[in-house]
Amino acid sequence: MAKIITLFRLLPKKHQILLGILSLVAFIILIFPTEEASAFRQTPPATTNVRYDVPLAFRTPEAPNTVESSESGAVEESEAAAEAITSEITEETQQSLEPQSDVQPDTMAELEHFDIKKGDTLAAVFSRAQLTAREVYDITQLPLAKKNLIKIMPGEEIVIGKNADGSLQQLRYQIDAISTLLIKQHGDGYQATVIDKDVENRQQFARAEIKSNFWNAGIDAGLTPAQIMQLATIFGWDVDFALDIREGDSFALIYEQEYADGEFLRNGNILAAEFINQGQHYTAVRYTDGNYYSADGHSMHKAFLRSPVDFKYVSSNFNPKRLHPVTGLVRPHRGVDYVAAIGTPIKAAGDGKVIEASYNQYNGNYVFIKHNETYTTKYLHLNKRKVKRGDTVKQGQIIGTLGRTGRVTGAHLHYEFIVNGVHRNPRTVDLPKALPIASKEKAAFTALSHQLMAKLAQNQQVRIAKQ
Ligand SMILES: [Zn+2]
Repeated sequence: MAKIITLFRLLPKKHQILLGILSLVAFIILIFPTEEASAFRQTPPATTNVRYDVPLAFRTPEAPNTVESSESGAVEESEAAAEAITSEITEETQQSLEPQSDVQPDTMAELEHFDIKKGDTLAAVFSRAQLTAREVYDITQLPLAKKNLIKIMPGEEIVIGKNADGSLQQLRYQIDAISTLLIKQHGDGYQATVIDKDVENRQQFARAEIKSNFWNAGIDAGLTPAQIMQLATIFGWDVDFALDIREGDSFALIYEQEYADGEFLRNGNILAAEFINQGQHYTAVRYTDGNYYSADGHSMHKAFLRSPVDFKYVSSNFNPKRLHPVTGLVRPHRGVDYVAAIGTPIKAAGDGKVIEASYNQYNGNYVFIKHNETYTTKYLHLNKRKVKRGDTVKQGQIIGTLGRTGRVTGAHLHYEFIVNGVHRNPRTVDLPKALPIASKEKAAFTALSHQLMAKLAQNQQVRIAKQ
């Protein structure tokens, strides 16, 4: 400090004054954080889309929080793979910024944080915190403390506040994202309570146009991998995400997000979604039974999956004119080929019975499933068969793994869809009609569907208007 003062004296007078004022301002800012600054620490900005779950193996998400408005009104033609937007549903933005609970530090005691390390015991943490044997005894006698403090894990912390005389005034332990254990001095002893944050559901809107592939568009829209897979599952009976996605396809959705005391906690269910695939418009609404129905009330769940392979495994999403790996011709044969790594799980497209599960030199390992009198599906060149002839299989059940057995040059699944003995293109064939929602649920569903689809449309219009 003395050195700084000496230095200060060496400065010209004008600079001394200026520096003095600046220091004073900085001091005031440090001491009195503005309302805004303190609120910010507790509450993430409303439009920030949290993307914790994105594995590094995938493209790093770099979604814009807001849409840049361009004067020409044209969609930006940047290198960015997708024009993607997320925003909180406009009418849901009212939020209390300061639902201050007891968990907020109080000013009475200086709080010290003790990190729980690998191999730590509660006794070791207490000893680092220099609690007396008496205090430790009193605390561990409290049922709530006993129950929750045995759960301490490395990476967590115990927060201790002491009185001026060094005696324990309070102890806090965050049990999970919502609950905190608070032990406070009370008369001669201590009292334990568990304080829960207010959990609030908000609705989030996201949309994206597909420019490179579905996965990247999902990441750009701010979705987590789990949400991207969920979206593909919801529409997986209508759209073959492995082979049918094209540039220009788009999707939009409304999903729930849970906030605890204004802080993002986790993503919830997708409430409504629409998907435009090669000009075809698909909609889905989540009903109170947890199932998804099209906006007009037909189950999304259908007799056949469009693809027996999850899209995330299939390599060539954007090559509609793929050559057959053996003949080098464009789709000359009676099935569809899915090119993916050996070992990729293959799913039964529908419920049925295994009528063949064997090996020959042409098909390699193969499985045929008869679904009913009308429909049969065939799966060829498998690396391994996971079912036997005579087995009953459920839709989505893994029946084998993708391989390169039989007459092939590269690993792929050859998939055939046979309707009344005739080979049909599984991706375009008309599949059995989806079941409508139960008639007694129809009115309630329709009301919900109208509301959510209107919200979806409204949010998209807001976005388009902003561009
Ligand atoms: Zn083939």
